[in-house]
Amino acid sequence: MIPVVALVGRPNVGKSTLFNRITRSRDALVANIPGLTRDRHYAKTQWEGQPFLVVDTGGFEPVVDTGIVAEMAKQTRQAIAESDVVVFLTDARTGLAPQDQHIAAYLRRTGKPVLLAVNKAEGLPPTAMAEFHELGLGQPLAVSAAHGSGVGSLLDDITALL
Ligand code: GDP
Ligand code: MG
Repeated sequence: MIPVVALVGRPNVGKSTLFNRITRSRDALVANIPGLTRDRHYAKTQWEGQPFLVVDTGGFEPVVDTGIVAEMAKQTRQAIAESDVVVFLTDARTGLAPQDQHIAAYLRRTGKPVLLAVNKAEGLPPTAMAEFHELGLGQPLAVSAAHGSGVGSLLDDITALL
């Protein structure tokens, strides 16, 4: 079976932009409107000879109920369950958000291998990454899905886990 890599994170952190960069496809909708990508989008890609599927998730529903799991769209939970590696994307421009902590707690409970990527990091000093250590998911990797910096390193880390 081809391994599956899920891209998760709250709306607008750049999941679809990263999906498009990794897959070189325009299948996933990219827009400023949070939550626009409603369904999962899959694309097959490869990095240095390792094929894998990338899943762009629609993010997380607004908090309408109690509990961390209730906050997360069922589709996203399924995508995580079906994945071999999760890329948890956060946003260096907005900084660490409470919802990031909720997602991190959920991901830790799944036991899935998680790579923490901090997007929109272009032009920011490495100190901007510091607060993301609080998520307890290891070393945050600075990336720019829009400009491409750090994405090769992220792909190296992904394929090392497959
Ligand atoms: P999603 O909701 O997580 O799928 O986020 P999108 O991929 O739709 O991106 C949300 C917004 O962030 C869009 O306006 C993108 O152009 C912008 N964006 C995505 N990646 C980057 C990046 O690396 N740097 C900057 N500055 N903006 C980005
Ligand atoms: Mg999207």
